[in-house]
Amino acid sequence: MAGDHDELLAAYLRTRHVACECCGYDLHGVEGRSCPECGSRLIASVHLRVVTPEQQARERKALAAFLAKRDVACPGCGASLKGNEGDRCQACNHPLSLMELRHGELGGSWKKETRHGCVILVLVCLVSFLFLAVITIAGKM
Ligand SMILES: [Zn+2]
Ligand SMILES: [Zn+2]
Repeated sequence: MAGDHDELLAAYLRTRHVACECCGYDLHGVEGRSCPECGSRLIASVHLRVVTPEQQARERKALAAFLAKRDVACPGCGASLKGNEGDRCQACNHPLSLMELRHGELGGSWKKETRHGCVILVLVCLVSFLFLAVITIAGKM
């Protein structure tokens, strides 16, 4: 149902910093179903992943090693996760993933990089389009 989807999407974005795939805008706290920056339609999808106990143990170890060296804020409550044990925030029980924490650590720099990537992608498309056009014209002569 559309209502359920929008609620799920808003609830997800309230607690997470997700970059718009199109323009790289930080969608944190966005209500509604489109990116406020570029108007792209936002779709929430459920991704199921099977994690073996060995994988889980490896991820916990990597997470602990990551937190032992860095002073990172919890994406859920903002508390420092330095020395946090386990894969949940000890203050607010927010599930911690290495990917999300790494993303947060980069701060604002990723937004610029994504925009840069967009421009390069557009340029590559333009170049291949021109190339195709030249071939078509040459073929007709
Ligand atoms: Zn966007
Ligand atoms: Zn927390």
